[in-house]
Amino acid sequence: MGSARLIDGKAFAAGVVERVRDAADRLREACGLTPGLAVVIVGDDPASRLYVRNKGLRAQEAGFASFTHVLPADTDQATLDNLIAELNIDPAVHGILVQLPLPAHLDTTAVLSAIDPDKDVDGFHVVNAGRLAVGLPGLVPCTPLGCLMLLQAELGSLSGAEAVIVGRSNIVGKPMAQLLLGADCTVTVAHSRTRDLPGVCRRADILVAAVGRPEMIRGDWIKSGATVIDVGINRVPHSDPVLAAAGKTRVVGDVAFAEAIEVAGAITPVPGGVGPMTIACLLANTYSAACRRAGIVPDRI
Ligand code: NDP
Repeated sequence: MGSARLIDGKAFAAGVVERVRDAADRLREACGLTPGLAVVIVGDDPASRLYVRNKGLRAQEAGFASFTHVLPADTDQATLDNLIAELNIDPAVHGILVQLPLPAHLDTTAVLSAIDPDKDVDGFHVVNAGRLAVGLPGLVPCTPLGCLMLLQAELGSLSGAEAVIVGRSNIVGKPMAQLLLGADCTVTVAHSRTRDLPGVCRRADILVAAVGRPEMIRGDWIKSGATVIDVGINRVPHSDPVLAAAGKTRVVGDVAFAEAIEVAGAITPVPGGVGPMTIACLLANTYSAACRRAGIVPDRI
């Protein structure tokens, strides 16, 4: 049995959702405003539909209005653009989320750019990426925001810490780097061309893995006592060969958990670590978008 503390993202996320619900209640009492989240999905990918359903349910649990738009897989660009344009001007909608990936015939960049940046609760619009880069208030991508909240809850001040992020995607790695820089860490962003990745990881007081490769980060890549945030969600065959032969799978992170727990100071499990924080931060973003729309300073979540 290892020594690392488990960072319970599920419990932490439940607390965030509760705080968002209380803040939304106060907003409703103060000015009759109910935050509204619109989720758009194109096609019938079962995993995406499940995500969308969960997002709608969580929004309702937080006392939000929830609007789900399910469009057929052959929806054309103009139809989707029109829907986004309607949601942009709908006063009951404060957050718009388009579930990705979109079918290949649709232009994802164009769709994301069409969302009003102040309703872009995923934080993927270039305006919000720019705001984050220059330190202006804006909507921050939910997964890295959730990671930052877990790190601050675990460590308090992050000032001066050596942070290494493995992965440089626009939705996780890059915004994570901006957030950690904003929290006064010394930040290194590693990727598939990084030389001596194990050596780079070993420097980290804070190691964030956002790669999408099952258990790639081994225990001996981790500095003793480091805080490890595993963003990866990878479906692999079940560890029991009989169940695997029957097609059963399990979910693992980007970090070899059993090895890492022997070395790290604290670590997020997969599942139950970062994943639940993503939806919680989506609700927090929708709440703050509703406040800003009404010219009210959002309560701290
Ligand atoms: P992307 O595929 O967009 O990016 C992966 C990054 O990892 C790239 O920057 C890539 O480098 C880098 N990489 C790939 N292979 C290696 C390697 N061998 N060595 C070093 N770096 C490597 O993935 P995402 O950022 O979208 O997602 C990452 C993981 O996080 C996935 O498992 C995803 O499922 C999960 N995820 C989880 C969420 C949650 O809610 N918990 C939300 C979003 C994602 P390069 O740029 O050079 O190609």
